[in-house]
Amino acid sequence: MRKLVLATKNLGKVAEFQRLLSEHASGIKVLGLADFPNMPEVIESGKTLSQNAFLKAKMISAFTNLPTLSDDSGLFIDALAGDPGIYSARWAQYEGSDSKEQDLLNINKVLTQLKEVRSDKRSAQFMAAVVFYKAGADHLPLERVEIGVLAGEIISAPLGSGGFGYDPIFMPTGYNQTLAQLSPVIKDQISHRGIALRAIAPFILDHL
Ligand code: IMP
Repeated sequence: MRKLVLATKNLGKVAEFQRLLSEHASGIKVLGLADFPNMPEVIESGKTLSQNAFLKAKMISAFTNLPTLSDDSGLFIDALAGDPGIYSARWAQYEGSDSKEQDLLNINKVLTQLKEVRSDKRSAQFMAAVVFYKAGADHLPLERVEIGVLAGEIISAPLGSGGFGYDPIFMPTGYNQTLAQLSPVIKDQISHRGIALRAIAPFILDHL
């Protein structure tokens, strides 16, 4: 069976990728970073989501000798000039390993920053860069990036318990529930990651 490594430790993202891949690129054995416990940490030193996604994909492909799929994503809030953006994961500078705690601190920081911002000025976008990378013959790699965007607004207090990250405070345009209240099926249909992954799936199927 063809193998693909998902280059993320984020369990929320792994769950989403696995759902989306089983739907759009079936017949693939998906491995996670848990299958490679000695994987070195990737420093996300890029200036854009795409640069960071490529950094992760290339390093993990070199380490595993397998094709990889990586994602770098973030929440871009207009009233904060695009912050937290590429720094979304560590926005509150939490250093521990409890992802729920990290999500809560990040959410609280954003809500504090937006405290004085009126409800009609709280527009935001989730963006994802999804990269497929496979080392090729003669060191010529096969690589592809696709971008997905989901527009919405930041509400004033968290709602819902599903999803991960900033889902409880993000209400997609055209919905009256947050991403944490909507079902995983709906989130997959509209999400930045879902959009990017559906766009890249045919390339993965052709080149894996
Ligand atoms: P990274 O791509 O691993 O650097 O982290 C992206 C960060 O953006 C995550 O840790 C979340 O905080 C946030 N994020 C990305 N996608 C989503 C999403 O679908 N829902 C909620 N938060 C997200």
